Amino acid sequence: LIRLEQVTKRFGDNTVLDHLDFSVDAGRHVTLIGPSGSGKTTILRLLMTLAKPDEGTITVDGEQLFPASEKQIREVRKKIGMVFQQFNLFPNMSVLRNVTEAPVTVLGLSKDEAEARARELLDLVGLADKCDAKPSQLSGGQQQRVAIARALAMRPQVLLLDEVTSALDPELVAGVLDVLRDIARSTDITMLCVTHEMNFARDISDQVLMFDSGRVIESGPPEKIFGDADHERTREFLSAVL
Ligand code: ATP
Repeated sequence: LIRLEQVTKRFGDNTVLDHLDFSVDAGRHVTLIGPSGSGKTTILRLLMTLAKPDEGTITVDGEQLFPASEKQIREVRKKIGMVFQQFNLFPNMSVLRNVTEAPVTVLGLSKDEAEARARELLDLVGLADKCDAKPSQLSGGQQQRVAIARALAMRPQVLLLDEVTSALDPELVAGVLDVLRDIARSTDITMLCVTHEMNFARDISDQVLMFDSGRVIESGPPEKIFGDADHERTREFLSAVL
C-alpha cells in the first residue's frame, strides 16, 4: 500500500533520509523506532505531502506522490489519516463538530450521516458523553482520542500516528494506547506508527523497523527486534530506552 524507494531528504547539508527503502502492505501495523532526530517524523510528513523528497519515489495505493497533480494529491490525502503529537483540534468547535467537519466538507456526507458516524467513533474511543464539549474542557488524553476519532471519520486506508502519546501526562497514556490497540484489532486499517512507547510497539505491530541515520537498519516481527536483534545499534538503542 505504501512504498518508498531510494528516498532522500535533505535540510541544507543535513541528510535526514538517505536512499531509504521500505514498504507497508495493506492491513499491516508497522512501527518505526529509532533515536530522536533520525528522520521518523519526516517520513510521515512526506507521506502526508507536507514535505517533498529530494530524490526517490513514494507511492500510496499505486499512485505516485511526487510529482503529482493537485487532484491526485487530494485523492491520496483522502486515503491517509494522521494523528499528531499535538492534537491540533479546532478549538472553537464542539467535539462532535471536530469529527464531522471534514467528512461534510471534503467527502460531501450529509450532516446527519456525518453525525451518526461521529457518534459511533466517539463511542469507540470512549467519549460518547463528550459530544458537546469544547476541546479545552477535555484532558490531553481525551483530546487525543477525539483526534483519533476525527482521523477515522474520513475512513482512511492508512492511519499515520506520530508519537501520539508523547505530549500526554503519564497517567493518560494507557487510555490512548488502549484505544489504538482496539482499533488495530477490530479494523483492517493499515497503521504506520512512530513511537517511543516500546511496549505499545511490541503489542500492536506486525513489523518493527529500526531506523538510524536516515535508513532502516533492521526490520522484523517485534519478538525478533525486541528479543534477538541482529544489529548492534538496535540492541544498544533498545537497552537505552527499555
Ligand atoms: P523525534 O523522535 O525527536 O521526533 P525524528 O526521528 O522524528 O525525531 P525528524 O523530526 O524527522 O526526526 O527530524 C530529523 C532531522 O531533520 C532533525 O535533525 C531535524 O532537525 C531535521 N529537520 C526536520 N524538519 C526540518 C525542517 N523543516 N527544516 C530543517 N531541518 C529539519
